[in-house]
Amino acid sequence: MFNQINFNTKIVTIDGPAGSGKSTAGAFLSKKINFSYLDTGLMYRAITAYFIDNNILPEQLNKINKQLENMNFNIKFTQRKTSTIFVNNYDAMSKLFIPKIDLSVSKFSSISSIRKFLVSKQRDIAKNQNIIMIGRDIGTVVLPSAKLKFYLNASSIIRAKRRYDQLKDSKKSIIEIQNLIEKRDKIDKTRKDSPLKPAKDAIIINTDNLSLEEVVNKMYVEVKREKL
Ligand code: C5P
Repeated sequence: MFNQINFNTKIVTIDGPAGSGKSTAGAFLSKKINFSYLDTGLMYRAITAYFIDNNILPEQLNKINKQLENMNFNIKFTQRKTSTIFVNNYDAMSKLFIPKIDLSVSKFSSISSIRKFLVSKQRDIAKNQNIIMIGRDIGTVVLPSAKLKFYLNASSIIRAKRRYDQLKDSKKSIIEIQNLIEKRDKIDKTRKDSPLKPAKDAIIINTDNLSLEEVVNKMYVEVKREKL
């Protein structure tokens, strides 16, 4: 989709499925090494919220492409819950984590024109600052020239338990959350454009039996090794 670009900035990529711990670990690591932090999942969630609230379905490709032609997509990123994202002046932030978005985000994310639109924004952001970028295709497609790449993984039951604990007052059981996560994994891993998979040169960390601190420490060792 894009030619490989070499950036002058320092880049760490973290990919992995939902609930693997990448967003939280990435946020901690970014503070520790004083890099900016961008969770690209928020961008896919924001664009999904915008289309849903404008009654546009993933099947309506012509409508989606027309919208993308003049779309004003603004992101001010800090942390996963405190960033701000506006899509054509529509404040998407308050909608990002509602169940409706969880259900449809992977469908919208499979659409190539949406990916192309967001990937070019992600690359622009990485040109200007040292950054830890989190997502599904950052090491493989968005920033393949990054010096340090991680792929975080964990079993679906552990990931569902983490989501359940995060939500605190979840109306769904752990098993229901596990089913949803597995559905999303399947779409993300089998889509034609930029499927979720580890980059060939990614360091794979299974977080099943690791605390957040242990994950961050493992990553930090690699950051130091690479002299980033
Ligand atoms: O990471 P998070 O669960 O917020 O991501 C939501 C969805 O956005 C993922 O399930 C995936 O479909 C999509 N996504 C993507 N590529 C990225 C980041 C997220 O396709 N780089």
